[in-house]
Amino acid sequence: MLERDEGAVRAQWARIRGRLREEFGDAAFRTWLKPVTLRELRGGVVRLAVPTKFMRDWVETNYLDRLRMLWTGENAAVRGIDIAIEAALARAIADSEAAADGAADGGAPEAAGEVEDLATDRGDFAGRLDPRFTFENFVVGKPNELAHAAARRVAEAATVPFNPLFLYGGVGLGKTHLMHAIAWHVRRREPSKRVIYLSAEKFMFQFVKAVRFKDTMAFKEQFRSVDLLMIDDVQFLCGKDSTQEEFFYTFNALVDQNRQIVISADKSPSDLEGLEERMRSRLGWGLVADIHPTTYELRLGILQTKAEQLGIDVPTKVVEFLAHKITSNVRELEGALNRISAHASLVGRAVTIETAQEVLHDLLRANDRRITIEEIQKRVAEHFSIRMADMHSARRARAVARPRQVAMYLCKQLTPRSLPEIGRKFGGRDHTTVMHAVRKIEELRASDPNLSEDIELLRRMLET
Ligand code: ADP
Ligand code: MG
Repeated sequence: MLERDEGAVRAQWARIRGRLREEFGDAAFRTWLKPVTLRELRGGVVRLAVPTKFMRDWVETNYLDRLRMLWTGENAAVRGIDIAIEAALARAIADSEAAADGAADGGAPEAAGEVEDLATDRGDFAGRLDPRFTFENFVVGKPNELAHAAARRVAEAATVPFNPLFLYGGVGLGKTHLMHAIAWHVRRREPSKRVIYLSAEKFMFQFVKAVRFKDTMAFKEQFRSVDLLMIDDVQFLCGKDSTQEEFFYTFNALVDQNRQIVISADKSPSDLEGLEERMRSRLGWGLVADIHPTTYELRLGILQTKAEQLGIDVPTKVVEFLAHKITSNVRELEGALNRISAHASLVGRAVTIETAQEVLHDLLRANDRRITIEEIQKRVAEHFSIRMADMHSARRARAVARPRQVAMYLCKQLTPRSLPEIGRKFGGRDHTTVMHAVRKIEELRASDPNLSEDIELLRRMLET
């Protein structure tokens, strides 16, 4: 089915899935990404399949960009991604999950770290708690000291200190870790308290399911006697009107009863796009604590702590090298350390800077280069011999509009910027304009080898 190197493409897909799981976490991966099935790579298009339309919409809205970026990173031939709905998949997935559940039931549910579950379905409703995410394992430094102190306060306070506690910061900086730490702490100290931790995605998924099965009363009941409710990654609720409504209702009901709520997001309440105004202001009522990007000192501290936990001996020089080089986030720092530790135990030699460089070359390269929107605009303008000002101008002549679209496309591919952010840098254009440009260029790439070559060339220049 898959073109020529079927095995290679499958291996690429496996790596991409691994990355997605790391980046989005187990819960989101299990719910949304695991069911995505690779069908084929043909004519530069990766064909994926999911069981329902709902799922396709969700994956397209939330993960398509990342999927595309990872695929093009793995395989230069990939030009586009197509997601089909295959109803038959639903059965296959349900069967395999039933089998997995059966296996888990036989094990020790306590060890799996299930949060105090809600009345109905076997704790299905609550997210799992990671046993490593405790306060003891959290390294405090300047960038996270406020968030940490606030989380501790919530965990230890006899009465609600501020409501809600709103934690925000970039990916991999410890938001989920702090929320789990609160849950563990309360669970240990006051086992009678009912704690629920779940991702906004799961909240949404459960809500949609309840609506579909006409069971929203039961859904609401779930939250009635909760003492502490934590919802992770609420940016995922943005734009989902009915779920937002439901969340708002739950939120208010709990605040009125003086129950503690903790929320996390990747942006501050005022920067969350697609959030209703009343919701936005309500979220900012309590304490808003922001986790800043890591500093060198914090990275050093985290690396030392984790190396100790892993029981590996990493020379100070290497730790300093890593803290200096891997600046993105804590998750990548951990990933680096894990790889070094695996390598060291395989070859049975002490770690040096050289081996670290070798083992981590891809990670180091990704951290090395931060491609900016301005750089892309400049390169593209040069390449097509147009003025830099035309990147921002309103001129619509093809000779400038096309290069501008190419630049937007590359921004989407090579930077972590969102569509609205990109639009703003192109003379304040709307995010839909950027989306249109990305689609247009994708289409053109498939039919115009010259353009495709131009883009490849630009990409390589920008990435080196
Ligand atoms: P976020 O939810 O903000 O994306 P996570 O809480 O999932 O990030 O953190 C990513 C990884 O980094 C986790 O394995 C977490 O344990 C670790 N981590 C983040 N911050 C710290 C810290 N200050 N000390 C120790 N580990 C941390
Ligand atoms: Mg998280």
